Amino acid sequence: MSANEILDRLSETLASRRNANPETSYTAKLLAGAPDSILKKIGEESAELIMAVKDGDRAQIAHESADLVYHLLTLLISCGMSLDDVARELALREGISGIAEKESRGVKIDADGCLFCRIVKGEIPSQRVYEDEEIYAFKDIHPIRPVHVLVIPKRHIASLADARETDRAVLGRILNVANRLAVENGSSDGFRLIINTGRVGQQEVRHLHAHILGGPTPVGPMLRSE
Ligand code: 5GP
Ligand code: ZN
Repeated sequence: MSANEILDRLSETLASRRNANPETSYTAKLLAGAPDSILKKIGEESAELIMAVKDGDRAQIAHESADLVYHLLTLLISCGMSLDDVARELALREGISGIAEKESRGVKIDADGCLFCRIVKGEIPSQRVYEDEEIYAFKDIHPIRPVHVLVIPKRHIASLADARETDRAVLGRILNVANRLAVENGSSDGFRLIINTGRVGQQEVRHLHAHILGGPTPVGPMLRSE
């Protein structure tokens, strides 16, 4: 059986223990005392895994890792989450590779913090186009059309996939502001707004941003077909 199948089955079993009797089910007992009961176990199991690795005992490393995975899955269930949430996060990171690799593609990345957060703070210079208490807009450093402006929320949101219901207002404002800025900056006859998201969207900078692309001439076909 593959690791995936085992993890899926274990997740299902653990979720089904939610309504079990805490006196007869260890998982139900953990879930009843969540999160403290589970956090305590995760602390203990992590320490035991560290010891096993230091001892170089492979069987023990597998044993302690299994304990840790079991408690981690139980913790996720207690938070109303699942392995799918973790997989989604991992998939996003897959598209955002290491600093050296990004730099080789000419993308600036700051190891100490998010590039666009640093632009908002003024730590990295930018050509500001607009600013209010929650939005910042600036010219793209490598414009691909005569008008190429980035509109971002000042508060860090990694991507559209990471936006929450509570971000609804700022997301709506980004659209309104983008339209106004497009018109004011030389795209009164239309423009294209692009929000690259995650690995498939080939998002390079992990701070949500909308590209306003425009100018006097049409921007071209939407995407090349595969
Ligand atoms: P993405 O591919 O993530 O949608 O786009 C990121 C955009 O950010 C690219 O178009 C890139 O040119 C722009 N960019 C990257 N670093 C900087 C920077 O330091 N300053 C500015 N103004 N734009 C940047
Ligand atoms: Zn940021």
